[in-house]
Amino acid sequence: MAPSNNPKTPHIALLPSSGMGHLTPFLRLAATLLHNNCSITFITIQPTITSAESNTLSRFFTSLPQINPLKFQIHPFDPTTATSTDPFYLHYEAIRRSAHLLPPLLLSLPPLSALITDISLTSAFIPIIATLRIPTQILFTCSAAMLAFYLHFPTQFTKNGNEFPEFFDIPGLLPIPKSSIPPLLHDPTNLFTTQFVENGQALIKADGILINTFDYLELEVLDALNGGEVVPSLPPVLTIGPLKPCEFERGTPLSWLDEQPEGSVVYVSFGSKTALSGEQIKELGIGLEKSGFRFLWVLKSKMVDREEKTKDLEKMLSDGFFERNKENGLVVMDWVEQGEILGHKAVGGFVSHCGWNSITEAIWNGIPVLGWPQGGDQRINAGVLERNGMGIWVKEWGWRGEGGVVKGEEIGEKVRELMEDVGLKRGANKVKEGARMAVGEGGSSDKGLKGIVEMFLEDINGN
Ligand code: UDP
Repeated sequence: MAPSNNPKTPHIALLPSSGMGHLTPFLRLAATLLHNNCSITFITIQPTITSAESNTLSRFFTSLPQINPLKFQIHPFDPTTATSTDPFYLHYEAIRRSAHLLPPLLLSLPPLSALITDISLTSAFIPIIATLRIPTQILFTCSAAMLAFYLHFPTQFTKNGNEFPEFFDIPGLLPIPKSSIPPLLHDPTNLFTTQFVENGQALIKADGILINTFDYLELEVLDALNGGEVVPSLPPVLTIGPLKPCEFERGTPLSWLDEQPEGSVVYVSFGSKTALSGEQIKELGIGLEKSGFRFLWVLKSKMVDREEKTKDLEKMLSDGFFERNKENGLVVMDWVEQGEILGHKAVGGFVSHCGWNSITEAIWNGIPVLGWPQGGDQRINAGVLERNGMGIWVKEWGWRGEGGVVKGEEIGEKVRELMEDVGLKRGANKVKEGARMAVGEGGSSDKGLKGIVEMFLEDINGN
Protein backbone atom coordinates (compact mmCIF):
# COMPACT_ATOMS: atom_id res chain seq x y z
CA MET A 1 0.00 0.00 0.00
CA ALA A 2 1.25 3.54 -0.76
CA PRO A 3 2.39 5.45 2.33
CA SER A 4 -0.10 7.88 3.78
CA ASN A 5 0.07 11.50 2.64
CA ASN A 6 -1.69 12.59 5.79
CA PRO A 7 0.46 15.45 7.12
CA LYS A 8 -0.54 14.54 10.68
CA THR A 9 0.81 10.98 10.51
CA PRO A 10 4.54 10.39 10.96
CA HIS A 11 5.91 8.56 7.95
CA ILE A 12 8.86 6.34 8.89
CA ALA A 13 11.11 4.35 6.57
CA LEU A 14 12.97 1.35 7.96
CA LEU A 15 16.05 -0.07 6.29
CA PRO A 16 17.78 -3.09 7.85
CA SER A 17 20.94 -4.74 6.60
CA SER A 18 21.24 -8.42 5.85
CA GLY A 19 20.62 -11.59 7.86
CA MET A 20 17.66 -12.64 9.99
CA GLY A 21 19.28 -11.32 13.16
CA HIS A 22 18.94 -7.80 11.74
CA LEU A 23 15.77 -8.25 9.73
CA THR A 24 13.64 -9.69 12.55
CA PRO A 25 13.88 -6.76 14.99
CA PHE A 26 13.28 -4.29 12.14
CA LEU A 27 10.11 -6.14 11.15
CA ARG A 28 8.92 -6.23 14.76
CA LEU A 29 9.61 -2.52 15.14
CA ALA A 30 7.81 -1.73 11.87
CA ALA A 31 4.73 -3.64 13.05
CA THR A 32 4.86 -1.88 16.43
CA LEU A 33 5.16 1.59 14.89
CA LEU A 34 2.28 0.79 12.55
CA HIS A 35 0.14 -0.05 15.56
CA ASN A 36 1.18 3.29 17.05
CA ASN A 37 -0.39 5.20 14.16
CA CYS A 38 2.68 5.68 11.99
CA SER A 39 2.73 5.22 8.27
CA ILE A 40 5.51 2.78 7.33
CA THR A 41 7.71 2.23 4.32
CA PHE A 42 9.84 -0.88 4.68
CA ILE A 43 12.90 -0.91 2.43
CA THR A 44 14.25 -4.32 1.48
CA ILE A 45 17.73 -4.92 0.16
CA GLN A 46 17.75 -6.76 -3.16
CA PRO A 47 19.02 -9.41 -3.44
CA THR A 48 18.66 -11.05 -0.03
CA ILE A 49 21.22 -13.61 1.05
CA THR A 50 19.04 -16.27 2.61
CA SER A 51 15.76 -17.98 1.81
CA ALA A 52 14.70 -17.30 5.41
CA GLU A 53 14.83 -13.55 4.69
CA SER A 54 12.82 -13.72 1.45
CA ASN A 55 10.23 -16.07 2.95
CA THR A 56 9.81 -13.95 6.07
CA LEU A 57 9.51 -10.75 4.06
CA SER A 58 6.80 -12.17 1.88
CA ARG A 59 4.82 -13.30 4.94
CA PHE A 60 5.32 -9.92 6.55
CA PHE A 61 4.02 -7.92 3.59
CA THR A 62 1.08 -10.30 3.10
CA SER A 63 0.03 -10.03 6.72
CA LEU A 64 0.51 -6.24 6.95
CA PRO A 65 -0.72 -4.84 3.61
CA GLN A 66 -0.80 -1.32 5.14
CA ILE A 67 3.01 -1.29 4.99
CA ASN A 68 4.57 0.11 1.84
CA PRO A 69 7.30 -2.21 0.51
CA LEU A 70 10.17 -0.54 -1.32
CA LYS A 71 12.99 -2.41 -3.03
CA PHE A 72 16.57 -1.18 -2.80
CA GLN A 73 18.51 -2.86 -5.59
CA ILE A 74 22.17 -2.78 -4.64
CA HIS A 75 25.10 -2.88 -7.04
CA PRO A 76 26.94 -6.15 -7.34
CA PHE A 77 30.48 -5.90 -6.08
CA ASP A 78 33.62 -7.94 -6.40
CA PRO A 79 34.22 -9.75 -3.09
CA THR A 80 37.93 -10.03 -3.83
CA THR A 81 38.15 -6.27 -3.21
CA ALA A 82 37.27 -6.79 0.48
CA THR A 83 39.22 -8.57 3.21
CA SER A 84 36.60 -11.09 4.29
CA THR A 85 35.07 -14.36 3.22
CA ASP A 86 31.98 -14.02 5.40
CA PRO A 87 28.94 -13.77 3.09
CA PHE A 88 27.08 -11.52 5.54
CA TYR A 89 29.90 -9.00 6.04
CA LEU A 90 30.49 -8.96 2.28
CA HIS A 91 26.81 -8.23 1.80
CA TYR A 92 26.97 -5.35 4.33
CA GLU A 93 29.85 -4.00 2.29
CA ALA A 94 27.90 -4.26 -0.95
CA ILE A 95 25.03 -2.32 0.66
CA ARG A 96 27.42 0.29 2.06
CA ARG A 97 28.98 0.79 -1.36
CA SER A 98 25.51 1.31 -2.82
CA ALA A 99 24.67 4.11 -0.38
CA HIS A 100 24.71 6.70 -3.18
CA LEU A 101 21.68 4.95 -4.72
CA LEU A 102 19.57 5.69 -1.69
CA PRO A 103 18.69 9.41 -2.13
CA PRO A 104 16.57 9.02 -5.29
CA LEU A 105 14.70 6.21 -3.61
CA LEU A 106 13.96 8.24 -0.48
CA LEU A 107 13.03 11.31 -2.52
CA SER A 108 10.44 9.25 -4.39
CA LEU A 109 8.50 8.89 -1.11
CA PRO A 110 6.13 11.28 0.63
CA PRO A 111 8.08 13.35 3.21
CA LEU A 112 9.71 11.23 5.90
CA SER A 113 9.79 11.95 9.63
CA ALA A 114 12.78 9.65 9.96
CA LEU A 115 14.77 6.85 8.45
CA ILE A 116 15.55 4.05 10.88
CA THR A 117 18.57 2.09 9.76
CA ASP A 118 21.05 -0.46 10.94
CA ILE A 119 24.29 -0.23 12.89
CA SER A 120 26.24 -2.04 10.18
CA LEU A 121 25.32 0.67 7.65
CA THR A 122 25.76 3.68 9.94
CA SER A 123 28.98 5.28 8.68
CA ALA A 124 28.07 4.83 5.00
CA PHE A 125 24.46 6.02 5.27
CA ILE A 126 24.44 8.86 7.81
CA PRO A 127 26.35 11.41 5.64
CA ILE A 128 24.16 10.63 2.62
CA ILE A 129 20.89 10.82 4.51
CA ALA A 130 21.99 14.06 6.17
CA THR A 131 22.16 15.74 2.76
CA LEU A 132 18.42 15.06 2.42
CA ARG A 133 17.71 16.58 5.86
CA ILE A 134 15.98 13.40 6.98
CA PRO A 135 16.60 12.55 10.65
CA THR A 136 18.38 9.22 11.09
CA GLN A 137 17.68 6.86 13.93
CA ILE A 138 19.74 3.72 14.42
CA LEU A 139 18.01 0.59 15.59
CA PHE A 140 20.73 -1.15 17.56
CA THR A 141 19.84 -4.83 17.36
CA CYS A 142 22.22 -6.06 20.10
CA SER A 143 22.55 -5.49 23.85
CA ALA A 144 23.33 -2.17 25.52
CA ALA A 145 26.55 -3.81 26.76
CA MET A 146 27.51 -4.35 23.13
CA LEU A 147 26.54 -0.78 22.23
CA ALA A 148 28.90 0.50 24.92
CA PHE A 149 31.65 -1.75 23.60
CA TYR A 150 30.96 -0.59 20.02
CA LEU A 151 31.44 3.01 21.08
CA HIS A 152 34.46 2.34 23.26
CA PHE A 153 36.40 0.08 20.90
CA PRO A 154 37.42 2.73 18.32
CA THR A 155 39.15 4.73 21.07
CA GLN A 156 41.30 1.70 21.93
CA PHE A 157 41.80 0.77 18.33
CA THR A 158 43.16 4.10 17.14
CA LYS A 159 45.47 4.25 20.14
CA ASN A 160 46.81 0.75 20.14
CA GLY A 161 46.17 -0.99 16.84
CA ASN A 162 45.44 -4.57 17.81
CA GLU A 163 47.48 -4.49 21.04
CA PHE A 164 44.54 -4.70 23.40
CA PRO A 165 44.51 -4.48 27.17
CA GLU A 166 43.68 -7.69 29.06
CA PHE A 167 40.39 -6.07 30.10
CA PHE A 168 38.26 -3.33 28.57
CA ASP A 169 37.06 -1.01 31.31
CA ILE A 170 33.83 0.57 30.17
CA PRO A 171 31.56 2.65 32.42
CA GLY A 172 28.43 0.77 33.47
CA LEU A 173 29.93 -2.65 32.78
CA LEU A 174 32.10 -5.17 34.54
CA PRO A 175 35.53 -5.31 32.85
CA ILE A 176 35.27 -7.19 29.55
CA PRO A 177 38.18 -9.62 29.10
CA LYS A 178 40.06 -9.51 25.80
CA SER A 179 38.90 -13.10 25.24
CA SER A 180 35.26 -11.95 25.08
CA ILE A 181 35.57 -9.41 22.30
CA PRO A 182 34.48 -10.48 18.81
CA PRO A 183 37.33 -12.68 17.53
CA LEU A 184 37.60 -10.88 14.18
CA LEU A 185 38.54 -7.64 15.96
CA HIS A 186 41.94 -9.16 16.68
CA ASP A 187 42.70 -8.70 12.99
CA PRO A 188 42.87 -4.94 12.31
CA THR A 189 42.81 -5.45 8.55
CA ASN A 190 39.65 -7.57 8.44
CA LEU A 191 36.60 -6.02 6.76
CA PHE A 192 34.56 -6.63 9.92
CA THR A 193 37.04 -4.59 11.99
CA THR A 194 37.08 -1.72 9.52
CA GLN A 195 33.29 -1.55 9.44
CA PHE A 196 33.07 -1.93 13.22
CA VAL A 197 35.41 0.98 13.90
CA GLU A 198 33.85 3.27 11.30
CA ASN A 199 30.32 2.53 12.47
CA GLY A 200 31.27 2.96 16.13
CA GLN A 201 32.71 6.37 15.39
CA ALA A 202 29.73 7.44 13.27
CA LEU A 203 27.10 6.58 15.88
CA ILE A 204 27.36 9.96 17.57
CA LYS A 205 26.20 11.59 14.34
CA ALA A 206 22.83 9.81 14.42
CA ASP A 207 19.81 11.72 15.69
CA GLY A 208 18.95 8.94 18.08
CA ILE A 209 19.56 5.31 18.94
CA LEU A 210 16.74 2.86 19.58
CA ILE A 211 17.77 -0.30 21.33
CA ASN A 212 16.17 -3.71 21.70
CA THR A 213 16.71 -4.04 25.43
CA PHE A 214 15.08 -2.77 28.62
CA ASP A 215 16.03 -0.94 31.79
CA TYR A 216 15.56 -3.83 34.18
CA LEU A 217 18.07 -5.95 32.25
CA GLU A 218 20.84 -3.42 31.63
CA LEU A 219 20.15 -0.37 33.74
CA GLU A 220 23.70 0.56 34.73
CA VAL A 221 25.12 0.56 31.25
CA LEU A 222 22.09 2.40 29.87
CA ASP A 223 22.60 5.08 32.51
CA ALA A 224 26.29 5.29 31.61
CA LEU A 225 25.46 5.62 27.91
CA ASN A 226 22.85 8.32 28.46
CA GLY A 227 24.99 10.08 31.06
CA GLY A 228 27.76 10.64 28.50
CA GLU A 229 30.16 8.39 30.45
CA VAL A 230 30.91 5.95 27.64
CA VAL A 231 31.48 8.61 24.96
CA PRO A 232 30.51 12.26 25.10
CA SER A 233 27.86 13.75 22.79
CA LEU A 234 26.03 10.49 22.20
CA PRO A 235 22.47 11.04 20.96
CA PRO A 236 19.72 9.71 23.27
CA VAL A 237 19.58 5.93 23.62
CA LEU A 238 15.95 4.88 23.97
CA THR A 239 15.02 1.40 25.11
CA ILE A 240 12.16 -0.15 23.16
CA GLY A 241 12.67 -3.83 23.92
CA PRO A 242 12.23 -6.61 24.06
CA LEU A 243 10.61 -6.35 20.63
CA LYS A 244 8.22 -9.26 20.81
CA PRO A 245 7.34 -11.77 18.11
CA CYS A 246 4.41 -10.61 15.97
CA GLU A 247 1.43 -12.24 14.31
CA PHE A 248 3.24 -12.62 10.95
CA GLU A 249 5.81 -14.88 12.65
CA ARG A 250 3.27 -17.52 13.53
CA GLY A 251 4.01 -20.81 11.78
CA THR A 252 2.79 -24.35 11.99
CA PRO A 253 3.53 -25.42 15.55
CA LEU A 254 5.66 -28.55 15.89
CA SER A 255 3.13 -31.14 16.95
CA TRP A 256 5.92 -33.26 18.50
CA LEU A 257 6.21 -30.65 21.26
CA ASP A 258 2.53 -31.05 22.18
CA GLU A 259 3.21 -34.64 23.13
CA GLN A 260 6.03 -33.82 25.58
CA PRO A 261 5.57 -33.18 29.31
CA GLU A 262 5.76 -29.62 30.59
CA GLY A 263 9.29 -28.19 30.89
CA SER A 264 10.89 -31.46 29.77
CA VAL A 265 12.51 -30.41 26.47
CA VAL A 266 15.78 -28.63 25.89
CA TYR A 267 15.66 -26.55 22.73
CA VAL A 268 18.97 -26.28 20.86
CA SER A 269 19.68 -23.70 18.19
CA PHE A 270 22.63 -21.59 17.15
CA GLY A 271 20.59 -18.99 15.33
CA SER A 272 20.15 -18.28 11.68
CA LYS A 273 23.71 -18.33 10.40
CA THR A 274 26.02 -20.35 12.64
CA ALA A 275 27.11 -23.73 11.38
CA LEU A 276 29.06 -26.00 13.72
CA SER A 277 31.82 -28.24 12.39
CA GLY A 278 30.95 -31.84 11.51
CA GLU A 279 32.87 -33.14 14.54
CA GLN A 280 31.16 -30.72 16.90
CA ILE A 281 27.73 -31.64 15.53
CA LYS A 282 28.44 -35.29 16.29
CA GLU A 283 29.59 -34.50 19.86
CA LEU A 284 26.61 -32.27 20.49
CA GLY A 285 24.35 -35.16 19.50
CA ILE A 286 26.19 -37.41 21.95
CA GLY A 287 25.88 -34.74 24.65
CA LEU A 288 22.14 -34.32 24.20
CA GLU A 289 21.68 -38.04 24.39
CA LYS A 290 23.85 -38.29 27.51
CA SER A 291 21.97 -35.47 29.22
CA GLY A 292 18.97 -37.77 29.49
CA PHE A 293 16.60 -34.92 28.61
CA ARG A 294 14.27 -34.70 25.67
CA PHE A 295 15.56 -32.37 22.98
CA LEU A 296 14.50 -30.35 19.96
CA TRP A 297 17.57 -29.48 17.93
CA VAL A 298 17.68 -27.16 14.91
CA LEU A 299 20.80 -28.24 13.12
CA LYS A 300 22.68 -26.15 10.56
CA SER A 301 25.70 -27.31 8.65
CA LYS A 302 26.05 -24.23 6.41
CA MET A 303 25.98 -20.50 7.18
CA VAL A 304 23.64 -19.65 4.31
CA ASP A 305 20.51 -21.78 4.17
CA ARG A 306 20.47 -21.84 0.36
CA GLU A 307 23.77 -23.75 0.46
CA GLU A 308 22.43 -26.49 2.72
CA LYS A 309 22.65 -29.23 0.08
CA THR A 310 22.35 -32.40 2.08
CA LYS A 311 19.86 -32.96 4.82
CA ASP A 312 21.17 -36.43 5.42
CA LEU A 313 21.11 -36.30 9.18
CA GLU A 314 22.05 -39.96 9.63
CA LYS A 315 25.52 -39.23 8.23
CA MET A 316 26.09 -36.27 10.54
CA LEU A 317 25.28 -38.03 13.81
CA SER A 318 26.62 -41.06 15.63
CA ASP A 319 25.63 -44.55 14.48
CA GLY A 320 22.17 -45.52 15.64
CA PHE A 321 21.43 -42.01 16.98
CA PHE A 322 17.96 -41.79 15.51
CA GLU A 323 16.92 -45.27 16.52
CA ARG A 324 18.04 -44.67 20.11
CA ASN A 325 16.40 -41.25 20.36
CA LYS A 326 13.26 -41.67 18.31
CA GLU A 327 11.03 -41.14 21.34
CA ASN A 328 13.04 -38.44 23.09
CA GLY A 329 14.49 -36.24 20.44
CA LEU A 330 13.66 -34.33 17.29
CA VAL A 331 16.31 -32.95 14.93
CA VAL A 332 15.28 -30.55 12.18
CA MET A 333 17.26 -28.85 9.45
CA ASP A 334 14.53 -26.44 8.37
CA TRP A 335 13.50 -23.01 9.55
CA VAL A 336 11.35 -23.22 12.68
CA GLU A 337 9.38 -20.46 14.38
CA GLN A 338 11.65 -20.08 17.37
CA GLY A 339 9.45 -17.53 19.10
CA GLU A 340 6.65 -20.09 19.22
CA ILE A 341 8.91 -22.92 20.31
CA LEU A 342 10.29 -20.93 23.23
CA GLY A 343 6.72 -20.08 24.20
CA HIS A 344 5.65 -23.75 24.23
CA LYS A 345 5.03 -25.20 27.67
CA ALA A 346 7.10 -28.32 26.91
CA VAL A 347 10.32 -26.28 26.59
CA GLY A 348 12.32 -25.94 29.80
CA GLY A 349 15.77 -24.80 28.65
CA PHE A 350 17.62 -23.37 25.67
CA VAL A 351 21.12 -24.14 24.44
CA SER A 352 21.91 -21.01 22.47
CA HIS A 353 24.82 -19.26 20.75
CA CYS A 354 23.52 -16.09 22.49
CA GLY A 355 22.56 -14.06 19.44
CA TRP A 356 20.69 -11.09 20.89
CA ASN A 357 17.34 -11.93 19.30
CA SER A 358 17.48 -15.46 20.65
CA ILE A 359 18.21 -14.03 24.07
CA THR A 360 15.35 -11.55 23.98
CA GLU A 361 13.03 -14.38 22.91
CA ALA A 362 14.24 -16.57 25.79
CA ILE A 363 13.68 -13.66 28.16
CA TRP A 364 10.21 -13.02 26.80
CA ASN A 365 9.28 -16.60 27.63
CA GLY A 366 11.24 -16.99 30.87
CA ILE A 367 13.46 -19.81 29.54
CA PRO A 368 16.89 -20.35 31.16
CA VAL A 369 19.83 -20.49 28.77
CA LEU A 370 23.01 -22.52 28.47
CA GLY A 371 25.06 -20.08 26.43
CA TRP A 372 27.59 -21.40 23.97
CA PRO A 373 28.86 -18.25 22.24
CA GLN A 374 30.34 -18.86 18.78
CA GLY A 375 31.39 -15.41 17.56
CA GLY A 376 30.55 -11.69 17.37
CA ASP A 377 28.83 -10.10 20.37
CA GLN A 378 27.78 -13.45 21.85
CA ARG A 379 30.13 -13.64 24.86
CA ILE A 380 29.19 -10.11 25.85
CA ASN A 381 25.52 -11.13 25.62
CA ALA A 382 26.15 -14.31 27.60
CA GLY A 383 27.57 -12.08 30.34
CA VAL A 384 24.29 -10.12 30.44
CA LEU A 385 22.34 -13.35 30.96
CA GLU A 386 24.69 -14.62 33.63
CA ARG A 387 24.57 -11.37 35.59
CA ASN A 388 20.78 -11.52 35.53
CA GLY A 389 20.73 -15.05 36.93
CA MET A 390 19.04 -16.71 33.96
CA GLY A 391 21.97 -18.23 32.14
CA ILE A 392 25.20 -20.12 32.46
CA TRP A 393 28.09 -20.48 30.03
CA VAL A 394 31.41 -22.25 30.03
CA LYS A 395 34.14 -19.71 29.37
CA GLU A 396 36.60 -22.45 28.39
CA TRP A 397 34.50 -23.62 25.44
CA GLY A 398 36.15 -21.93 22.48
CA TRP A 399 34.72 -19.75 19.77
CA ARG A 400 33.55 -21.46 16.60
CA GLY A 401 36.57 -23.04 14.92
CA GLU A 402 38.89 -22.27 17.87
CA GLY A 403 39.84 -24.17 21.01
CA GLY A 404 39.02 -27.70 19.87
CA VAL A 405 35.88 -29.77 19.93
CA VAL A 406 33.81 -29.85 23.14
CA LYS A 407 33.15 -33.44 24.08
CA GLY A 408 29.66 -34.90 24.42
CA GLU A 409 30.19 -35.91 28.05
CA GLU A 410 30.83 -32.31 29.08
CA ILE A 411 27.92 -30.99 27.02
CA GLY A 412 25.60 -33.55 28.59
CA GLU A 413 26.59 -32.45 32.12
CA LYS A 414 25.96 -28.78 31.37
CA VAL A 415 22.60 -29.52 29.76
CA ARG A 416 21.59 -31.41 32.90
CA GLU A 417 22.69 -28.45 35.02
CA LEU A 418 20.61 -26.12 32.85
CA MET A 419 17.50 -28.27 33.08
CA GLU A 420 17.74 -29.08 36.79
CA ASP A 421 18.78 -25.75 38.32
CA VAL A 422 15.65 -24.25 39.86
CA GLY A 423 17.53 -21.03 40.63
CA LEU A 424 18.04 -20.43 36.91
CA LYS A 425 14.34 -20.97 36.23
CA ARG A 426 13.48 -18.52 39.01
CA GLY A 427 15.97 -16.02 37.53
CA ALA A 428 14.47 -16.42 34.06
CA ASN A 429 10.95 -15.86 35.38
CA LYS A 430 12.05 -12.69 37.17
CA VAL A 431 13.65 -11.29 34.04
CA LYS A 432 10.54 -12.25 32.06
CA GLU A 433 8.42 -10.23 34.48
CA GLY A 434 10.81 -7.29 34.10
CA ALA A 435 10.49 -7.55 30.31
CA ARG A 436 6.72 -7.69 30.35
CA MET A 437 6.56 -4.69 32.67
CA ALA A 438 8.94 -2.73 30.43
CA VAL A 439 6.75 -3.11 27.34
CA GLY A 440 3.44 -2.96 29.23
CA GLU A 441 1.41 0.25 29.47
CA GLY A 442 3.59 2.92 31.13
CA GLY A 443 6.71 0.67 31.29
CA SER A 444 10.14 2.03 30.38
CA SER A 445 10.23 0.59 26.86
CA ASP A 446 6.60 1.51 26.21
CA LYS A 447 7.50 5.08 27.16
CA GLY A 448 10.58 4.89 24.89
CA LEU A 449 8.50 3.86 21.92
CA LYS A 450 5.65 6.29 22.54
CA GLY A 451 8.22 9.03 23.18
CA ILE A 452 9.76 8.62 19.78
CA VAL A 453 6.38 8.63 18.03
CA GLU A 454 5.49 11.76 20.02
CA MET A 455 8.73 13.39 18.88
CA PHE A 456 7.96 12.63 15.23
CA LEU A 457 4.48 14.10 15.71
CA GLU A 458 5.86 17.27 17.28
CA ASP A 459 8.30 17.64 14.39
CA ILE A 460 5.54 17.48 11.80
CA ASN A 461 3.43 19.91 13.78
CA GLY A 462 6.40 22.31 13.89
CA ASN A 463 6.66 22.40 17.72
N1 UDP B 1 15.35 -18.16 14.01
C1 UDP B 1 14.16 -18.81 13.83
N2 UDP B 1 14.18 -20.06 13.33
C2 UDP B 1 15.32 -20.73 13.03
C3 UDP B 1 16.56 -20.08 13.26
C4 UDP B 1 16.53 -18.79 13.76
O1 UDP B 1 13.06 -18.25 14.08
O2 UDP B 1 15.23 -21.88 12.57
C5 UDP B 1 15.31 -16.75 14.46
C6 UDP B 1 15.49 -16.56 15.94
O3 UDP B 1 14.24 -16.72 16.60
C7 UDP B 1 16.03 -15.15 16.01
C8 UDP B 1 16.82 -15.00 14.71
O4 UDP B 1 16.37 -16.03 13.85
O5 UDP B 1 14.95 -14.21 15.99
C9 UDP B 1 18.31 -15.18 14.91
O6 UDP B 1 18.83 -14.02 15.48
P1 UDP B 1 19.93 -14.07 16.60
O7 UDP B 1 20.25 -12.65 16.93
O8 UDP B 1 19.51 -14.91 17.72
O9 UDP B 1 21.17 -14.78 15.95
P2 UDP B 1 21.89 -14.70 14.51
O10 UDP B 1 21.15 -15.63 13.64
O11 UDP B 1 21.85 -13.28 14.05
O12 UDP B 1 23.27 -15.19 14.81
